[in-house]
Amino acid sequence: MCHCLIMITPYACGCEVEEPPHLIESCGCGGCGIAVVTTTSKVTANQPCSACIESGIWTYATGTWKLNGRPRH
Ligand SMILES: [Zn+2]
Ligand SMILES: [Zn+2]
Repeated sequence: MCHCLIMITPYACGCEVEEPPHLIESCGCGGCGIAVVTTTSKVTANQPCSACIESGIWTYATGTWKLNGRPRH
């Protein structure tokens, strides 16, 4: 039986991006494709997501990301 791993990245902008589920073969099952355990792993990114960066509302200055003119909550 396989292990399903879901990676969620919470970004500094407040967006959470979920990766497509990833199946990991376990105990030599040969990659049966049947997920019995699902693990969600969250790794916080210290930068805004690419969509927010592209939208231009975030600026990078002196080593930190700042939301243009507006205070962060
Ligand atoms: Zn399997
Ligand atoms: Zn974002």
